[in-house]
Amino acid sequence: MHLRPDQPDSLASLTDEVLACRACADRFAATRTRHSPRPVPWLSATAPILVCGQAPGARVHELGRPFDDRSGDRLRDWLGVDRATFYDRTRFAVLPMAFCFPGYDASGSDLPPPPLCASLWRARALAVMPGVRLTLLIGAHAQRWHLGRARPVSEAVADWRAALPDLLPLPHPSWRNTGWLKRNPWFEAEVVPELRARVATLLDTAP
Ligand code: SF4
Repeated sequence: MHLRPDQPDSLASLTDEVLACRACADRFAATRTRHSPRPVPWLSATAPILVCGQAPGARVHELGRPFDDRSGDRLRDWLGVDRATFYDRTRFAVLPMAFCFPGYDASGSDLPPPPLCASLWRARALAVMPGVRLTLLIGAHAQRWHLGRARPVSEAVADWRAALPDLLPLPHPSWRNTGWLKRNPWFEAEVVPELRARVATLLDTAP
């Protein structure tokens, strides 16, 4: 809860509030893993690149660091950066559609991010990150929120040029999307080189 709604957030105070959030405790306790909330905020007041993903997976829930998994390895490859650069908060911030691992559905896939998280935190988190110049929209939930309409991921990503220069829709880098990447070779042939070029330019000019 924002204790001083008349005062702007500071990044540190907002991060502390998010870390203490337990709003989805009952929801997570009712999943197969019966886990407790563990928010993983990775905010930055100066980072020029913001990665907007879906929600932490089980491994990130354990480790407490975003994209510290195979999806993150593929994402860093798309970005053309190593781990040290990715985890440098003067360069990259990460703001998922939910800060906590949502649990698994009956088929073993991650549940969607609880919408409550974005309604509670998203606008406030974006407001404390004025340095962002490029926002990467990973997956349907982030694309719907930032682009303002629901579209299949393939369509939103195929229309990537229309979102630039501030936004860039991407598929999720999960291994589950390897088939999609094979069926859509234009993504790695056209979008990834453009992404790498923009990232390199922004990092060269980052403070
Ligand atoms: S997902 Fe978001 S709203 Fe839910 S407990 Fe975690 S931080 Fe709070």
